[in-house]
Amino acid sequence: MQAERSVTEARRLSVKGIVQGVGFRPFVYQLATTLKLKGQVANTSNGVTIFLEGPLHDIESFLQALNTQPPPLAHVTQVDVAHLAPKGYDSFTIRQSREDTQRLTLISPDVSICNDCKKELFDPDDRRCGYPFINCTNCGPRYTIIDDIPYDRPKTSMRHFRMCPECQTEYDDPFNRRFHAQPNACPVCGPRVALYDREKKKIETKNAIETTISHLKAGHVVAVKGLGGFHLVVDAENPAAVETLRRRKHREEKPLAVMSGDIESIRQFAVLGQENEVLLQSRQRPIVLLEKKKDYALAGGVSPKNCTVGVMLPYTPLHYLLMKNHFTALVMTSGNLSEDPIAIDNEDAFDRLQDIADYFLVHDRDIYLRSDDSVLRIVDNKQRFLRRSRGYVPVPVFLKTRLKPILACGAELKNTVCLTRESHAFLSQHIGDLENLATYAFFEMTIAHLKRILSIEPEIIAHDMHPNYLSTQYAKEQSQMVQIDVQHHHAHIVSCMAENHVEAPVIGLAFDGTGYGSDGRLWGGEVLIARLDRFERAAHLAYTPMPGGAAAIKEPWRMAVSYLYGVYGKDFVNRRLPFLDRLNDSSLKIMVEMIEKDINSPRTSSLGRFFDGIAAMLGIRSHVAFEGQAAMELEMAAETWTGDLYEYAWSSEEPVLVDPHPIITGVVRDIEKGVPSSMVSGKFHATLMAMFTDLCQVIRKKTGLSRVALSGGCFQNAILLSGLSKRLGERGFHVLTHEKVPANDGGIALGQAVIADAIVRRGG
Ligand code: ZN
Ligand code: ZN
Ligand code: FE
Repeated sequence: MQAERSVTEARRLSVKGIVQGVGFRPFVYQLATTLKLKGQVANTSNGVTIFLEGPLHDIESFLQALNTQPPPLAHVTQVDVAHLAPKGYDSFTIRQSREDTQRLTLISPDVSICNDCKKELFDPDDRRCGYPFINCTNCGPRYTIIDDIPYDRPKTSMRHFRMCPECQTEYDDPFNRRFHAQPNACPVCGPRVALYDREKKKIETKNAIETTISHLKAGHVVAVKGLGGFHLVVDAENPAAVETLRRRKHREEKPLAVMSGDIESIRQFAVLGQENEVLLQSRQRPIVLLEKKKDYALAGGVSPKNCTVGVMLPYTPLHYLLMKNHFTALVMTSGNLSEDPIAIDNEDAFDRLQDIADYFLVHDRDIYLRSDDSVLRIVDNKQRFLRRSRGYVPVPVFLKTRLKPILACGAELKNTVCLTRESHAFLSQHIGDLENLATYAFFEMTIAHLKRILSIEPEIIAHDMHPNYLSTQYAKEQSQMVQIDVQHHHAHIVSCMAENHVEAPVIGLAFDGTGYGSDGRLWGGEVLIARLDRFERAAHLAYTPMPGGAAAIKEPWRMAVSYLYGVYGKDFVNRRLPFLDRLNDSSLKIMVEMIEKDINSPRTSSLGRFFDGIAAMLGIRSHVAFEGQAAMELEMAAETWTGDLYEYAWSSEEPVLVDPHPIITGVVRDIEKGVPSSMVSGKFHATLMAMFTDLCQVIRKKTGLSRVALSGGCFQNAILLSGLSKRLGERGFHVLTHEKVPANDGGIALGQAVIADAIVRRGG
């Protein structure tokens, strides 16, 4: 009889998740050979399959290592183990993948430079020292350079660069960190940077990056080609440079993001906490909203009238070379004119950014798919997406159940689309506001690209109910697909349910600026009883006219007038409200007439507009430069409030109408008494929390539902999100919030997809 140690066992392991293009096979190879196991590893249609032969003890060690120390970029979702009869392998090999077997795998997002590569970047003895395109299996570009799958060099924008013998040797060696690193390159064989002036004339310099640094030091605006597109860059400590950039980019007040070289530099101007540091240093390298320090040293124009500043750490070697000890922070804002898509192509950048940038730092590695920087904020110790894009896309949202292949088209603003395959929902990168042709072209391109690299041929198309959205019009043209229209706020709530793996009905608080309602009106302060396939409107903010329609979004003073008219009639002009003094009589008269005669004054139940109206009454802001600005500044102004609340009331009909009038009366009384706006704002926030918590209790009594989902753009407001979650929790509610997709319209496509699937399964 043989000793137990030498009995050969055989197993087949099927590994699912992000396991291709992330160094998974070399990891398996190295592990198996170290343990002297025989067999092979291969990429398959939905992951990696490993055949192992050897003593049981070693196979178990292998399995343990597979679970506990996979390569940094791998994301293993499932390992199935099958017992087999040994075939008698005499070695362990990596089997080459066949093209048709890679169609169902997951693609890695772009990954920030790893520590090993960073070390080499600054090591004078390394052959890649100072090379801005250094990368390895554990880091570098992925999603933005892939044209098609399988993820092999010829299907990426690296196909134009032939590896030199040294790079090729690394690429072929399973024990090398660059084994099958598709973007592998070096100064001899890889992409290069070049500096141009705005006349498209190449600037002769030995070191384009050093020259760029000196131009930035001199206060110039430089367009820098990055990973997912161009950034417009200026020294964040130079007020004149920041103002120049704002003026040329036509971006008056929206905050600009900055990049700092390291955590220590960030500490000079922002307040850090452990969670923020972890998030800043994560390999996704998002922009994180941080509270400004009191002795904030950056130019005031970076993030005006805002107590936060968006900060990120470098994520490409090029960024590290630019930053290295030269600047406390650089403004790094998307390379575009106002809300156009970010420029990715050199020629396109020269054309579109010529009037903005003084210099262009470009390179010859093409970006196939633009991807803006992601933006997050920590609230209640959790990551909250304001924009989910570079670094996260195309990692899917993992769902509880399998869906049919669906394309969901998203909403109008902050558009993203979503494609589904089984239990994976692939939310696209940030596409932007679908209001112009350039963004619409990007929308169509993203859909085509995602369909191709994910091999999804959707049968169903989900879209918003709004008849005029470009995304709706696109969906209506897809006659080969089953078309499902989805109500905006229902989609918000279901996106929150889906990411939390909840299918049972919930009470949904959907609070945002605008969404098209089932009755054709503009909703936005909605309390829904939501199921996956349908919803009832349990309550909503009472309708208020929006004099001038879209103009009332840009000019919150119109909303203030509308609310005041609702409470006091024409007498509102006699209230002692300082903001009224700044308005001229004729424009007030016109507003009143529009409201009374119902001229271009659509009715809205939007909570976002209510915030706008209150902000205007307080004199915080009567005109906005970007959507949500007034509401944001109202949040910024708020002081923590623990005192008495404004009165609130609702009707007993169905749906319940939440009456804004008692709150307005209270706010007006406080303003007339000279109560500071910070206190009024704090009290207003606290009142909303108490009111909606009470309302949820009424609904719980009626329906027995104790789960509450919070979604919609208003939950970007940290006070509202945190305070309402806390109060509801204290009353015994189970509260669902967003952590995987944005609460704003950037997350809505996920809800649309899940709803469409539920409707089709129900039978339409
Ligand atoms: Zn690396
Ligand atoms: Zn090379
Ligand atoms: Fe919305």
